Amino acid sequence: MTTYGLLIDYEYCTNCGSCQVSCKEEHNYPVGKTGIAVHADGPWKIDDDNWNFNYWPLPTDLCDLCADRTAKGREPICVHHCLANVMYYGPVEELAKKLEEKPKQMLVVPQYMPKVAKGEFVHVDKGNAHVAAKIEVEGTGQASFGAHRHDGKVGTFETEA
Ligand code: SF4
Ligand code: SF4
Repeated sequence: MTTYGLLIDYEYCTNCGSCQVSCKEEHNYPVGKTGIAVHADGPWKIDDDNWNFNYWPLPTDLCDLCADRTAKGREPICVHHCLANVMYYGPVEELAKKLEEKPKQMLVVPQYMPKVAKGEFVHVDKGNAHVAAKIEVEGTGQASFGAHRHDGKVGTFETEA
């Protein structure tokens, strides 16, 4: 079985958020839940000539590597919409070779937690501008991971509900 992942050249990530927004739209994830989140560190000075300032787009446990799309031969929606064109999807073995080409890249194999992260939204007026949402997350009991198999067959596995 071939393991697939995402390679992200974070040196050129602009923190545009397009990966996160497109992922949420594609999977209909609710407020506060996403398949990928962009984290930031810096800017802070290393020495007179150098600064640390990085953005790291990190898949969450809701990332299924866009199994529905990749099973049809399409690239993940985040890769498709990355405005800086710094995201790559493919077999880990191939991505690892690309990883050797330059620093400031990361190779990620997400752990897909098959959950229905949809559900009821109850907006709560807290008396100020903040709005809270009640979100119920349920285990589906089953998940497809056909896009991850080298032979193209669709497999299922059981999870706790
Ligand atoms: S591969 Fe798909 S599920 Fe994973 S972060 Fe990208 S858009 Fe979201
Ligand atoms: S879409 Fe690309 S450039 Fe924009 S935040 Fe995501 S990884 Fe960075």
